[in-house]
Formats: sequence, C-alpha cells, structure tokens
Amino acid sequence: MDEIIRIENIKREFLVGDEVVKALRGVSFTIGQGEFVTIMGTSGSGKSTLLNILGCLDVPTSGEYYLDGISVRQMSKNDRATLRNRKIGFIFQNYNLLPKTTSIENVELPLMYNRDVSHAERRERAIAALQEVGLGDRLTHKSNQLSGGQMQRVAIARALVNNPVIILADEATGNLDTRTSYEVLALFQRLHRDGRTIIFVTHNPELAAFSSRTITLRDGRIVSDQRNAHLESAEKVLASMPKEED
Ligand code: ADP
Ligand code: MG
Repeated sequence: MDEIIRIENIKREFLVGDEVVKALRGVSFTIGQGEFVTIMGTSGSGKSTLLNILGCLDVPTSGEYYLDGISVRQMSKNDRATLRNRKIGFIFQNYNLLPKTTSIENVELPLMYNRDVSHAERRERAIAALQEVGLGDRLTHKSNQLSGGQMQRVAIARALVNNPVIILADEATGNLDTRTSYEVLALFQRLHRDGRTIIFVTHNPELAAFSSRTITLRDGRIVSDQRNAHLESAEKVLASMPKEED
C-alpha cells in the first residue's frame, strides 16, 4: 500500500502562562493510500492538535512528518500553505463556510489560489464536487439557507474540489443530529469505497466501527491502533432508523 502519511515521535507542547501543556507526547504511525482511519479519544486527548499538524495548520514542537513523501518540518510557511491547499481537504465541526455565500462560491474557494485553474474550470469542478455529495439541487443556495447536514456536505465538497491526497475531518458530525450524522458517515464511506484516504476524528466510540482502522489517543499518546475486521454500514443503520415525521 502506498504510504500517504508518516509521523515519527510527534510532540506538541503549548506554553500557557508559565505552565507547559503537553498535548502530544510522542505519536507515531503511517497511513496508507485508501485507508479510512478514525482517531478517537475523549475531550482533551490531543485529537485536534494532531489533526491540525497533519493538516499543516500547525507545526509540532518536535518529531517528523512526511506527507506524500515530502518532509513538512523543513518547509517554509508559504510552502506549507501551498501544500495544504493542494493536498489536503479539511472539514471542521462548525463547517467554516462563508456566510451569505452560495454553495458554488464556497466550494470554488480553494481553487481561487490556483492560477492554473480558469474561471470556467473552477465553476465546473465546484458543480461536480457538489453533485458528488448529493447537492446538485442546492448549487445557488446561500449557506444560511441550508440545513446543518447540507452545510457540512458543502464543506465536504469544498474539501474534495482540489482532489486532495487526504481528507481530514475534525468532529465533522459533532453539530449534527443522529440521523444526519449517519448520512454524513455514509458519504464518507462512499468516498472511501471510491478510493479516498480519510482521517475522521471523533470522541464518539459508536462511530469508530464504520472505518477500516481506529487509532485511540489518551493524554497525548496512542493507546491502541486496530484494524477493523468488520465494517459497519452507515447506510444500513440509516435504513433501520425510524423515519422522522415532518
Ligand atoms: P481534543 O481535540 O482531543 O479534545 P485538543 O487537541 O484540542 O484535544 O487538546 C489537547 C490538550 O492541549 C488540551 O489539554 C488542551 O487544553 C491543550 N491545547 C490545545 N490547543 C492549545 C493551545 N492553542 N494552547 C494551549 N493549550 C492547548
Ligand atoms: Mg478537538
């Protein structure tokens, strides 16, 4: 399996007043192409800190990080920003969409930084990404005219539009009701079947059975790293749920 991510003994410390907070205390793993990995752990275990480092939004205090074979540690801030823009799709709990902006415009955003992509191609790719997440009928709706689940799907389309090597999701279902959470999970499972590489962060142990591997953090350390022999289907869970009345 092609290796997409390799981290070696990653540590991240924060100085708060005169106290040092050790958010990550030496984390190592490799993730191969096409894996769907859940990173699980209670609040404060270091999940977001780790994901921000993997997403090149933050740098570790020490340790090595190779993304798609490139050492991220030695890069300039600018090069890291470009790497992030081209290779990583990031999805947040609170969607981070531009307010009062259409779905298309939100999804086009990552392509704005790429001069090789023309206006016409940008639009085409944004529409294709929105269709891929099932929002072909919400292209010109503004973010405030969408439900939480729809907003998160726009955010997922925005993460896909650059065709990233990896998709990172931090508590992507954290603001959604149970049914909508499983709908988003079903979408991640479909993207995984299509060959996408996904890292899905959650504090909810019930969501771990839907990915092919689960890494559990506690107090900034990995306490288990398991491959899931049996993959639960989010579609199946949805089918067995009582329909909501309108
Ligand atoms: P999780 O996402 O698993 O809830 P975090 O990675 O957000 O955990 O936080 C891990 C630990 O690091 C916590 O103790 C948190 O308070 C601390 N931490 C995270 N970010 C910062 C920061 N920017 N400054 C100071 N402490 C931080
Ligand atoms: Mg977090």
